[in-house]
Amino acid sequence: MKSAQLEISYSVYQDSDELSESDKNLLLRAREVTKLAYAPYSKFNVAAVALLANGQIVEGTNQENASTPAGLCAERVLLSTASMLFPNIQINAMAISYDNLQGKSIAPATPCGICRQTLQEYEDRLKHPIRLILGGLEGQVFIFEKAGLLLPFAFTGTAMKKN
Ligand SMILES: [Zn+2]
Repeated sequence: MKSAQLEISYSVYQDSDELSESDKNLLLRAREVTKLAYAPYSKFNVAAVALLANGQIVEGTNQENASTPAGLCAERVLLSTASMLFPNIQINAMAISYDNLQGKSIAPATPCGICRQTLQEYEDRLKHPIRLILGGLEGQVFIFEKAGLLLPFAFTGTAMKKN
């Protein structure tokens, strides 16, 4: 037996002004798009905005439902939209922001587990890392060079393949 360690690297910026122009624009747009969320229950408006390899921008917001499990996160709304409108076009970067209508929005929020799984598969499918830019309406910004970094030991379906 031997023990093993896992290390994840990401960048921390003090605020959006430290970002590159492209990353900053994407995050500012995500902050703006939080207004389009449908989140009457949680009052936690989330937006995701992606820059595709073909230069197109795709947006998503959380879409809640009185039947809680029927709701969808912003990230998966975005990925489904991108997959339909721009099939097989890689996603270069995705900014995710939120507006907590009952509290603060001063630190990055990371995608939930199901979204991490979905992001991971999108990266695998198109063989391209999705750079994640995570930030609230203000405060620090985290950048992960690959969404899959957020889901170590992801289930990828490899085990289901026939020999
Ligand atoms: Zn999610």
